[in-house]
Amino acid sequence: GNRTFTMIKPDAVAAGHIGAILAQINEAGFRIVAMKLTKLSQEKAGEFYEVHKERPFYGELVDFMSSGPIVAAILEKDNAVADFRTLIGATNPANAEPGTIRARFAKSMGENAVHGSDSDENAAIEGAFHFAGTEQF
Ligand code: ATP
Repeated sequence: GNRTFTMIKPDAVAAGHIGAILAQINEAGFRIVAMKLTKLSQEKAGEFYEVHKERPFYGELVDFMSSGPIVAAILEKDNAVADFRTLIGATNPANAEPGTIRARFAKSMGENAVHGSDSDENAAIEGAFHFAGTEQF
């Protein structure tokens, strides 16, 4: 697959890291196919993360992801899903490789700066959650 979906999460937007994160994404060879600054309601954040609803951190995750503006984007590159997860680094920034987006910008396991889809199937589902087909280039 050649597309993935990302969000710059509320912690990184609030800290003023949108520009630096987008620059790193472009420098790594990803083309931006669709992008917007938006804010998730509690209901929409809950729906996006429905797969995690039995996990102990679900309530915290939904509160955090609806706490402020995010940037949602669809990205294109060969091997997009796997290469983007390499670029962002481990979920817990303490375990993220130096130079990865999470190593540079994440605060904690929960407030970890960015999302990256974990499969081609989820990339398509998550992209369609945020963007109409006519918004994708
Ligand atoms: P993402 O789906 O955001 O790219 P991921 O695939 O690295 O992250 P998941 O295990 O799918 O991680 O968890 C989804 C998100 O839930 C994480 O990015 C993080 O924000 C939050 N999260 C995961 N584990 C915890 C935890 N133990 N405590 C608090 N928040 C957590």
